[in-house]
Amino acid sequence: VKVVVIGAGVIGTTTAYYLSRAGCQVTVIDEHLAPGLETSFANAGQISYGYAGPWAEPGLPLRALKWALSKDSPLTIRPDGTLWQLYWTLLMLRNCTRQRYALNKGRLVELAEHSRACLKELRHSVDLEYEGRRRGTLQVFRTGRQFKDAAKDIAVLDKHGVQFELLDVEGCIRAESALRYVRHRIVGGLRLPDDETGDCHLFTTRLADIARARGVSFWLGAKVETILLQSCRLTHVVVQEQHLEADHFVVACGVRSRDLLKKIGLRIPIYPVKGYSITVPIVDPDASPVSTVMDETYKVAITRFENRIRVGGMADVVGLDCRLNDARKRVLEKSLTDLFPFGGDPERATFWAGFRAMTPDGPPHIGPTKYPNLWLNTGHGTLGWTLACGSAQLLAQMIVGYAPAHLN
Ligand SMILES: Cc1cc2nc3c(=O)[nH]c(=O)nc-3n(C[C@H](O)[C@H](O)[C@H](O)COP(=O)(O)OP(=O)(O)OC[C@H]3O[C@@H](n4cnc5c(N)ncnc54)[C@H](O)[C@@H]3O)c2cc1C
Repeated sequence: VKVVVIGAGVIGTTTAYYLSRAGCQVTVIDEHLAPGLETSFANAGQISYGYAGPWAEPGLPLRALKWALSKDSPLTIRPDGTLWQLYWTLLMLRNCTRQRYALNKGRLVELAEHSRACLKELRHSVDLEYEGRRRGTLQVFRTGRQFKDAAKDIAVLDKHGVQFELLDVEGCIRAESALRYVRHRIVGGLRLPDDETGDCHLFTTRLADIARARGVSFWLGAKVETILLQSCRLTHVVVQEQHLEADHFVVACGVRSRDLLKKIGLRIPIYPVKGYSITVPIVDPDASPVSTVMDETYKVAITRFENRIRVGGMADVVGLDCRLNDARKRVLEKSLTDLFPFGGDPERATFWAGFRAMTPDGPPHIGPTKYPNLWLNTGHGTLGWTLACGSAQLLAQMIVGYAPAHLN
C-alpha cells in the first residue's frame, strides 16, 4: 500500500514510522528542508499525559476576562480581521460547559494513555535518544488561591486514574531541589510523577532517521500545492508541478491543514494559537529544574534538557502573525528567574514562536474523511507531542484496515 503523508512535524513523522511498521510504502512531503522545523521545533518539552485536556473548560470565559486586564496575561486575543476567528472563538466558548469538558477531557486522557503505551513500546523497539527524562511534572502554586483551585484538577485526575501527589513547600523542594532558593515564593505544588520530558525536535529528527532506515522516503523542501480528485477519490498531490500518486493520503500539516483541505471542499475547525519559548543554556545544573515545573501564575512550563532549560507557554489568538513579541519574552524570563534564579543564563536565550493547531473542543482529528482514501492526523493543539505516538499508531491501524482501537 502506497501512502503519502503531507507534513514532517512530529505528527507526520510518527505517522510515517507507524505506517512503515504496518507494511506501507511511505513518502513524507514537507515544505521545510528538514523534519520538525515548524511547531514541533521548540515546544515546551513536556510529555504530560496527566495534563492532556481541553482549554475549553467551565472557568475559562471568566478567567479570560480577568486576564484581559493583566499585562502579563497568559492569553491575548486581538482581532485578526477574519470572521473565522470570531466563529472559532464562539465554538470554543460553546465547549466550556461542564458536560462538554468532561467528554473532551475523557477523550484526550484516553488518547494520552494510549500514547504513553505506544511511546514506551517505541523506546523498547528502537534506539531513540531525545534528551528524554521520566521524572514527572511539578505544577507550583505561588498563592493559597491557586492551591485551593487545584481541587478541581485533582478531582479530574482522580476520576481518570492519573497518579498525583499534592505537596507542601518541602515536598516541592524534595522533587525539585533548586526550588530551595525560592521557598518564600511558593506555597505548594501538584506533582504528576508519571509524566515525561524531552526535546521534541530531536525526537522528530531521530525518528525520521529511523523511518528512513526502514525505507520511508522524505521529499523535503517541497510544498504540496493541491490535491487532485477523480470520482471522489484522491489520485495525486501536486508538488513543484509534479504529480505524486498514492493509494492513501494523510494530511498532517498542523496549522496549515485547514487551508490545504479547503481546496478540496473540506472544512476543519482549526485555529493557529501562537505560543512562545526561550531556550537558555544552563550555568549551574544544581540550581536548575530536573524535569518540568509548571508555573501556575504565568501558565508557563520550565523544562530541563541536558544542558539547556526550555521555558514555554502563552496563548495569543492573533492569527498567523509570526512576529516575536518582546513583552511575551519578558514574561518567560520572569517566570524562569523567579523560580530558578541561578540555573540558566537568560542573556543567552534563543527566542522562538510557534502555532498550536487548536480545535475548539480540544481533541484532534484522527481518521477518515468523506474521501475514502484521505485521512487526517491534525489539530493536536497544546500537547501534540504527548499525543503523537498514540495518534499515529491508531491512524496507521485504520489505514491498513485493522479494527481501529476504541476511542470515543
Ligand atoms: C509554545 C508551545 C509550547 C508547546 N509545548 C508542548 C509541550 O510541552 N508538549 C507537547 O506535547 N506539545 C506542546 N506543544 C504543541 C506541539 O508542539 C504541537 O502540537 C506539535 O508540534 C504539532 O505537530 P504537527 O506535526 O501537527 O505540526 P508541525 O510541527 O507544525 O508540522 C506540520 C508540518 O507540515 C508542513 N506543511 C504544512 N503545509 C504543507 C504543505 N502544503 N506542503 C508541505 N508541507 C506542509 C510544515 O512545513 C510542517 O513541517 C507546544 C506548542 C507551542 C506553540
